[in-house]
Amino acid sequence: MLPTAVIERAQAEMLDWNGSGMSVMEMSHRGKEYMSIASKAEKDLRDVMSIPDNYKVLFLQGGASSQFAAIPLNLLGEKKSADYINTGMWSKKAIAEAKRYCSVNIAADTSGNGFTTVPTQAELKLNPDAAYVHYTPNETIGGVEFDYIPETGDVPLIADLSSTILSRPIDVSRFGMIYAGAQKNIGPAGLCIVIIREDLLGKASDITPTMFNYATHAENDSMYNTPATYSWYVSGLVFEWIKEQGGLEAMAVVNKRKADKLYAAIDATDFYGSPVAINARSWMNVPFTLANADLDAAFLAGAAERGLATLKGHRSVGGMRASIYNAMPEEGVDALVAWMQEFESSQS
Ligand SMILES: *Cc1c(COP(=O)(O)O)cnc(C)c1O
Repeated sequence: MLPTAVIERAQAEMLDWNGSGMSVMEMSHRGKEYMSIASKAEKDLRDVMSIPDNYKVLFLQGGASSQFAAIPLNLLGEKKSADYINTGMWSKKAIAEAKRYCSVNIAADTSGNGFTTVPTQAELKLNPDAAYVHYTPNETIGGVEFDYIPETGDVPLIADLSSTILSRPIDVSRFGMIYAGAQKNIGPAGLCIVIIREDLLGKASDITPTMFNYATHAENDSMYNTPATYSWYVSGLVFEWIKEQGGLEAMAVVNKRKADKLYAAIDATDFYGSPVAINARSWMNVPFTLANADLDAAFLAGAAERGLATLKGHRSVGGMRASIYNAMPEEGVDALVAWMQEFESSQS
């Protein structure tokens, strides 16, 4: 979801942005109007996330998936190997891509339990000579979220924050690089945000395509070529909206309450179940199952009638998955919980 207030604002500004006589979609990305939109969005994101000055913020295209290749290309430098923590579908994709460029040390792997836990710090088999450590703080499909930030010493920590960025405050200084596709918790699809510590720039291997080299975009304020202007603009409106809500501390309070309510409803009865270990339960993506999977279709059909959309679990895991990103109002969770209770009663 996007906040309704953001969509309404985009609607109000659709034909004529701020008296310019143009829609944002019609602007040159190098014109002064668009430059002001772009730089305000970056400033607001820096404020919202308290991004330190020695980090660049890049507004890229190609999604989080392109970063799976760009990360080894940019960050290996003289090193031959990188550490990856494998906690689910998105980690696996990042690992498969990295293997094309370097030797990958799997520092931990929870596939043995069906990706329902996160490894503890003590379980991580980190290589002190790795170029970086990559992990997925929130596995969107499995609904598995780290309840701590791994300690990696001098080795830069790289996080695919696609589905949990902006859900709560995060200490950016703990990371070498954070990246996130915009479409989960930021704004419209088409934009990918990379937040990278400046000392990690400039080490890209010679074969790195210009467009995959983070230095290219850092040196050109993400305007080396035409960026995803409209997605960048709407994302900027979302950053303003988060500020109005009281920032990430306030988002965290609401998000935690939403997640707690939903897990409480799942745990309250054997009719529903959650496959995920309690300490690893995501605040953003809540998978759940019906004890009798034959009822899944009826559950989903009734949910759709009540306006509860996109609840079917990922095709790889089945069951249900409620994605309750920042813009999902608490009433949305209340409506789902009410339907879960009603459906259970109707079956007994
Ligand atoms: C959705 C998602 C991706 C893929 O994002 P694209 O922008 O579609 O490439 C990668 N990682 C995580 C954790 C995701 O949730």
